Amino acid sequence: MSFANLGLVLIGKQGAGKGTQGAELSKHYDIPHISTGEMFRELVRLESPTGKELKQYIAKGELIPDETVIKAVKERLSFPDCAHGFILDGFPRTITQAEALSDLGTPSKLDLVINLEIPTRLVLQRLTRRRVCSNCGANYSLDSPPKVPWICDVCNGKVTKRVDDTEQVIQKRLHLYEDQTRPLLQWYKTRGLLVDIDASRDSNEVTRQIVNAIDQKLKDKKDSKVSNNYEDDIS
Ligand code: ADP
Ligand code: ZN
Repeated sequence: MSFANLGLVLIGKQGAGKGTQGAELSKHYDIPHISTGEMFRELVRLESPTGKELKQYIAKGELIPDETVIKAVKERLSFPDCAHGFILDGFPRTITQAEALSDLGTPSKLDLVINLEIPTRLVLQRLTRRRVCSNCGANYSLDSPPKVPWICDVCNGKVTKRVDDTEQVIQKRLHLYEDQTRPLLQWYKTRGLLVDIDASRDSNEVTRQIVNAIDQKLKDKKDSKVSNNYEDDIS
């Protein structure tokens, strides 16, 4: 498929596969994949004053203050490549962030929220095996390494373990997920935007399920547009 008019949010625990699925869906629908974690890690890499401040939060597994996150996402969504849609990964993570997103209005309109469900026992297993390109953020694992050992397939950068993928920091991030992010599921369910996907399966299968859910949503959107136009015609 070429491009789609689609505003998408991926929610899920650490290691649920938001990054992997976000990258696949971005190729499939030709809309940008915006990972706030990756945006902030990039600022850390650049060693800017903001980057140095953010590094403290990330290394400890704490949430970056809403105000900072919201400002960064608002700015990113105003870039021309988001004119037809976006895939947000790692945002929103708090109700305040979700409210800010819904206040943005078109063209940043949200169509669908995909909840990638995995049991917590899988999280530790996945994250301790996860490796990430320290240059471009591409995801790998001990089970799917880059072609040349620990050199990124995409950019030749060094593939390493993330500083926050230690057991203690993972526990902290999981706790924050339960406390701050899980309430968003009900929030989006109430608004009719939530679709639950079993993310413990093979990643190609998970992509297929998400694509089905999105295509159904796009079809419904198109049908309702057609019927609205029809109503306009006959009135
Ligand atoms: P994960 O979902 O595995 O914890 P991410 O790469 O999405 O990892 O995020 C890494 C870190 O970046 C978080 O632990 C947090 O410090 C910060 N961060 C990313 N997105 C947000 C957000 N929406 N709100 C607050 N902090 C964020
Ligand atoms: Zn890379």
